[in-house]
Amino acid sequence: MRLILTGFLFIASSSRAQIDSAFFRKVFNEALENGQAYARLGELCKTIGSRLSGSPQAEMAVAWGKQMLFGYGFDSVYTQPVMVPRWERSKTESLVFSSSVFNTAIKGEKLQDYNCESFEELPLKPSKQHRIPAVALGGSVGTFGKLQAGLVSIHNDAQLDSLGKAGALKGKMVLLNRPFPETTLNTFKSYGVCVGQRVNGASKAAAHGAVAVLVRSMSNRCDLHAHTGVMIYDDKQRKIPTMAVATAVANLLDRLSQQDPNLRINMQLGCQTLPDVPSANVVAETRGSQYPQSIIAFGGHFDSWDQGEGAHDDGAGCMHAFEALRLLKTIGYTPRHTLRCVWWMNEENGLRGATEYAAIAGKMNEKHVAALESDRGGFTPRGFGVDSAFLPKVLKYKTLLDAYGIGEIEKGGGGADIGPISKNNPNAVLVGFIPDSQRYFDVHHSETDVFESVNKRELHLGAASVAVMIVILDQELN
Ligand SMILES: [Zn+2]
Repeated sequence: MRLILTGFLFIASSSRAQIDSAFFRKVFNEALENGQAYARLGELCKTIGSRLSGSPQAEMAVAWGKQMLFGYGFDSVYTQPVMVPRWERSKTESLVFSSSVFNTAIKGEKLQDYNCESFEELPLKPSKQHRIPAVALGGSVGTFGKLQAGLVSIHNDAQLDSLGKAGALKGKMVLLNRPFPETTLNTFKSYGVCVGQRVNGASKAAAHGAVAVLVRSMSNRCDLHAHTGVMIYDDKQRKIPTMAVATAVANLLDRLSQQDPNLRINMQLGCQTLPDVPSANVVAETRGSQYPQSIIAFGGHFDSWDQGEGAHDDGAGCMHAFEALRLLKTIGYTPRHTLRCVWWMNEENGLRGATEYAAIAGKMNEKHVAALESDRGGFTPRGFGVDSAFLPKVLKYKTLLDAYGIGEIEKGGGGADIGPISKNNPNAVLVGFIPDSQRYFDVHHSETDVFESVNKRELHLGAASVAVMIVILDQELN
């Protein structure tokens, strides 16, 4: 018995699948002709919608996902329980300004006057008080009633410090108004430059006596949609309420704050943080034929913000992973390692799902040889970020990847959800899927991140790209 088994393993490990143009063609044809990702994403977005961690919708999504994956006949489908934080938005959420200058100087201006893409008029009524598009940031405390203050607009950290030290922020609402740098090509780099004001800005302003913070939405686009996202308090500072304002509104408030000494902002927020609640990661697997104990994990995060439907962020990434697993099963690919599609819970405001996933893997002595994350939307695929040690192996396939428009191979892989895996598996190859970045921050964390903003062919090309990268990992790793 033992001899037979050893013989089988020897034969199996010596036969590796050919990754050639015919193989790529097969994967891409199946995705483009019979792709399932778009239809399943539509179900998720339109029957459940947004999936904020700990919300009833997130739990509905877990049940839907498990059942949906089960229907495709993978070797195993299961959930991993995890406790997640629960921050809840309230219907009480408004931002209103009153200005003596506005009615005479600004009324009737159109967004185009603010270099915006839209020709809409600013949605402001010629009354004394003007309600403006704004949403609480995730994690913010409420206002416990109405809060009114004058406004100071800030364009960078140095200005925050100098005005703060001069006492100019005491008792004020602060607008953190650093825009995305327009000349930066990759919008994720712009996000990296600006997102600190959203995440840590409230406590920095509170340290100088500010009473509330408004943050310019993280987007290149100038419009009237506010983009939420996580903010984190420094426990040493007073917790002050924090909202995101649409980019066009940030431009308007910036101008008013300079022209009108009587500008007043009223904020009312009822959001709150509730006790943690149970939730789950969702997993589907195809067992490896030669190294069933060695795992290649790939996926995205199943939770989303409560604005829009979490279509690009990160329904698309979850569907990329599911569809990649389906594509390889459908074309009859026999993986050497266990291929595991994972939909991590709570990436947006806690990373509990990814942390628990890595902890469970550690307890079960699972070896991860590689992990791939897709969390940059469902746009046209361009390439991958790859750990430098594995880069030469991927570059062997550069001609093939180029033929499908996915030959932009960057040094350095990884992502928030696969990061914790490398603690117990320091040699695991981390890979990040890279689609085109130009439109992602138009919709990111806003009411416009809906199914209609996803293109079917772009989504299916992305899934096929993830599938061929998984095969490269599966064949090149031992
Ligand atoms: Zn995301």
